Amino acid sequence: MSSGWIKKDLKQLADKALLRKLRRVASMQGPEIEVDGQWVLNFCSNNYLGLAQDPRVIRAAAVAARKWGASAGSSRLIAGNLGIFQELERDLAAFKCYSSALLMNSGYQANVGIIPALVGEDDVVFSDEYNHASLIDGMRLSKARIVIYRHIDREDLEDKLASEDSGKGRRLIVTESLFSMDGDIAPLREIISMAWEHNCLTLVDEAHATGVLGKEGRGVLEYFNLRDEVDISLGTMGKAMGSFGAFACSSKALRDYMINHTRSLIFSTGLNPPALGAAKTALKIIQTEPARRKNLKENIVYLKGKLSGIGVSVSPDPVPIIPVIIGDAERTMKLCEELLGRGIFVQGIRPPSVPEGTSRLRITVSSEHTRNQMDELASALKAIL
Ligand SMILES: *Cc1c(COP(=O)(O)O)cnc(C)c1O
Repeated sequence: MSSGWIKKDLKQLADKALLRKLRRVASMQGPEIEVDGQWVLNFCSNNYLGLAQDPRVIRAAAVAARKWGASAGSSRLIAGNLGIFQELERDLAAFKCYSSALLMNSGYQANVGIIPALVGEDDVVFSDEYNHASLIDGMRLSKARIVIYRHIDREDLEDKLASEDSGKGRRLIVTESLFSMDGDIAPLREIISMAWEHNCLTLVDEAHATGVLGKEGRGVLEYFNLRDEVDISLGTMGKAMGSFGAFACSSKALRDYMINHTRSLIFSTGLNPPALGAAKTALKIIQTEPARRKNLKENIVYLKGKLSGIGVSVSPDPVPIIPVIIGDAERTMKLCEELLGRGIFVQGIRPPSVPEGTSRLRITVSSEHTRNQMDELASALKAIL
């Protein structure tokens, strides 16, 4: 078979400055990492609390491997449901104030599995226009009718809920809580009351908020003084929790339902014990060391102050994701390379991760960055912009 189309596709991507390449990172995560042979300041990881490189978390991964082995060996529904799953699910449910939690292999797998379990051909899902690709893919796979509402726009959601009738079908509202590429927050309180009024299920993806927002780190639900008011609250363990995997918090009945209908759970090997052990210890640290969240918040305030001082527009929300919108994809990647040349790594984000014409440098800050490092970022940005 001719492979001309592959080269043609790659060339087209390159011509539009949309070609993606894997960079080689030769060190563990942290405020400084070695990228493509150069030590740089890392301002683009989601490791918000520095737990990916915490010696206690690393040790817990090793201890879990020694006790439970390197692999779950099969799907959790076959022979893979090791005791450590139950221990961690109990801890996660308690942490999130839900009656139960169900561990899933990753946030991506959770979303592409759970949404099609909840809705199908005769149903409607209401989706924020900036929802993560994993949520979009889950909705597409479900074959439900997808109604997109404007980003965090409660009036538009209200209009669509009122005008889109699903007949006898089910209705589901899907949103991120803290948006991964924009660093803004969904109006969950209003969304929850609209869901009640219009008879909808709610699935809220707290991937970036878990461990970060709220006094205890429960996420945006806690930030708005809510508890278990959404039907499914999804958390992931690859970001602030410094490990890998995801979990869906829900009622016990919904958990039983998901176990029976979520294909990405049923037909995939369970998470490996090191990931579970690391997450279990990371969760304990999140719950017992609020100083990390306090440091993070101070860093967010400090960095946003610095950036606003050099003319970058920033939101007042206490969130560690700060987009610097550039617009053009080519210019964004050029600026990204210029920053790397100055020893600073901020990844450029282009379509299809973000809408056409809104390419950006997406800065993330962690509890571990020093003021000096943030000063360096601000002065490098000032120089290149
Ligand atoms: C990162 C992310 C995911 C995917 O989670 P993984 O565990 O990395 O697969 C899902 N949803 C949102 C909103 C995310 O930011």
